[in-house]
Amino acid sequence: MSWRHSCRRAAELMSRSLDERLSPRDRFSLRVHLFLCRNCRHVERQFDQIHTLASDVLGRGLDGDADDPPG
Ligand SMILES: [Zn+2]
Repeated sequence: MSWRHSCRRAAELMSRSLDERLSPRDRFSLRVHLFLCRNCRHVERQFDQIHTLASDVLGRGLDGDADDPPG
């Protein structure tokens, strides 16, 4: 298991998750990677901020559900 090599894939999944709902499998592997990789956790925060900013600017609510509380 070489999770260190999957940072690119993690970023890919994070990017995709902004546009579409990831499959449970993808979400799981992304979660695991984020748990292990501090660097990607930082990247995730930035993706999240971009997403928030984008939905704020567009004012359309890119996705309405907040089923993923932090923590
Ligand atoms: Zn990583």
